[in-house]
Amino acid sequence: MALLTKAVRGTNDVLPFTGYKTKYIEDMMLSISESFGFSEIRTPVFEHTELFDRSVGETTDVVQKEMYTFNDKGGRSITLKPEGTAGVVRAFLEHGLFNEAMPQKYAYVTPCFRYEKPQAGRLREFHQFGVECFGADNASADAEIISLAYRIFAFFEVEDLRLEINSIGCPECRKKYQDALKEYFKAHTGELCETCLGRLERNPMRILDCKSPVCSSIAKEAPKILDYICDDCRAHFESVKKYLDKMEIEYTVNPSVVRGLDYYTRTVFEFISDSIGAQSAVCAGGRYDGLVEELGGPSTPACGFAIGLERFMLLLEARNISLPEKNPVDLYIASMNEEANLVASKLAFDLRDEGVICLFDIFGRSLKSQMKYANKIGATFTMVLGEDEIAKGKVKVKCMMDGSEEELELESFTDNFTDMEFNKAMEGFSDVFDSDDAYENNEE
Ligand code: ATP
Ligand code: MG
Repeated sequence: MALLTKAVRGTNDVLPFTGYKTKYIEDMMLSISESFGFSEIRTPVFEHTELFDRSVGETTDVVQKEMYTFNDKGGRSITLKPEGTAGVVRAFLEHGLFNEAMPQKYAYVTPCFRYEKPQAGRLREFHQFGVECFGADNASADAEIISLAYRIFAFFEVEDLRLEINSIGCPECRKKYQDALKEYFKAHTGELCETCLGRLERNPMRILDCKSPVCSSIAKEAPKILDYICDDCRAHFESVKKYLDKMEIEYTVNPSVVRGLDYYTRTVFEFISDSIGAQSAVCAGGRYDGLVEELGGPSTPACGFAIGLERFMLLLEARNISLPEKNPVDLYIASMNEEANLVASKLAFDLRDEGVICLFDIFGRSLKSQMKYANKIGATFTMVLGEDEIAKGKVKVKCMMDGSEEELELESFTDNFTDMEFNKAMEGFSDVFDSDDAYENNEE
């Protein structure tokens, strides 16, 4: 086979065998967020480039090196979204959602695109589940979104995540800190990597985030932001911690958590795993009080987070956490000839309307290979439809789990089948109650 082409490097296909897992994870994350008052929002995959230049920040790696930017046929500069927040803020402004009752709370699942070096947990197209909360500057909002991420991880029984929090202050106190940082790193210019040398003038806090061993060991001794933040920012951070303590959510304060995007203020946090290798941040977020205004809107405090879904899946695999099985095929209808197949098509059509997962032959295959297929797909019930069955108006339905058979009328077959399925399920339950174990338990 000579393939014309393969998938672009750093992209993944989600195949049908695992597709239901992805959907289950996304659905559960959205529904847990719903209980925290977050509603789903969807924004386009691409936006005008200036949105990301301005929001993510011109000095960040994302904007400088990682964006998929191109001119469309109308000559506009377009960028595939590298993260989820900017588009949501743009929609929040464009549709005047700041006029609605505050807070406004949104959740989303979105593909993101970054031209990075592909490796485990680092892709060029990846997916984020994220939330954004607009309108609240109180520390309880920060703690609430952290508690939402915590709930999501607890729901999936992911236990080995560490929550690391920090405050990076407001633009006022950060200015003083950045001066101190510049001073400190200038004494080490001979040792810093080339990228960090570039960051020194433009955005020295980014050096704290550098993954090179030399830079990160220099960064360890650097001045700490928490020694520079103003009284208001300190009180805010203390309050976030108080809320987390109240909810008994464990955390450590890590002064080197600074986040890669420019728009963060005050609280920043990450959930880190030791089970998935170097790309260990599964969830990252924080407060971004200046962003809405930066994009032309009214001053609106906000906070949010994003979970990297591929990293989250790696984590589930590494921890051997199983997800519910895919729904099985309820019934396979095998047919002996074309006329029977015609009847099968109508039975299946009606059964499907009642939510029964029902398959029949669409190949004209032999009865033997139809039964082989039914076995392979693990159908719960099977039946064979031939001349006799159609003439008598009755068919034997076989339960593949225990081999038992039951004869059902073809007339009103959907009702007959669903009643039988229900009774069979109840039988399964009563087996449990009839067993000696259950009886003994009842006696206690
Ligand atoms: P990292 O430090 O790992 O590069 P980041 O600071 O660039 O992360 P964010 O922009 O905060 O990441 O994105 C939030 C989350 O999205 C990350 O915590 C991670 O789980 C996920 N993520 C980011 N970049 C990628 C990528 N290239 N491939 C897969 N997941 C990613
Ligand atoms: Mg990154």
